[in-house]
Amino acid sequence: MEQIAREMAPHKRVALVAHDNMKTALLNWVGRRKEALKLHHLYATGTTGSLLGKAAQLPITCLFSGPMGGDQQLGALIAEGKIDVLIFFWDPLNAVPHDPDVKALLRLAAVWNIPVATNEATADFIMDSPHMNQTFQVQIPDYAGYLKARTQ
Ligand code: PGA
Repeated sequence: MEQIAREMAPHKRVALVAHDNMKTALLNWVGRRKEALKLHHLYATGTTGSLLGKAAQLPITCLFSGPMGGDQQLGALIAEGKIDVLIFFWDPLNAVPHDPDVKALLRLAAVWNIPVATNEATADFIMDSPHMNQTFQVQIPDYAGYLKARTQ
């Protein structure tokens, strides 16, 4: 498929997700990064979002809990160009029942070329990037062009 440019605004839409064993790590990270995160619009899967909302007192758009469809909701938002950054502390040491949804979420993040952090170090790199607070162009699949070519 051909590629086209998509412009991310300075104010990013950031999705936050953590598996159960990683929730404390994400809560701590968000606590450290709270001031910078306030400049962006935050989304989260259900349990992660409600814990973060209480602990960090940040406005967060909460989706369903991950195993109940929240990962898929996030994937759909990514495909629609409505999420710019994914911070996803998945659990590398334990299996989760919704592993197919986890894979699907990471796959869509790759397809639609959004920055993804799966650990704290990468999340820090992303937050410290100058692109976080400026417009930034990414290349994405030209799906509209593909559809047009297929239906001509
Ligand atoms: P949760 O979902 O925030 O509802 O726990 C996260 C996940 O396991 O994908």
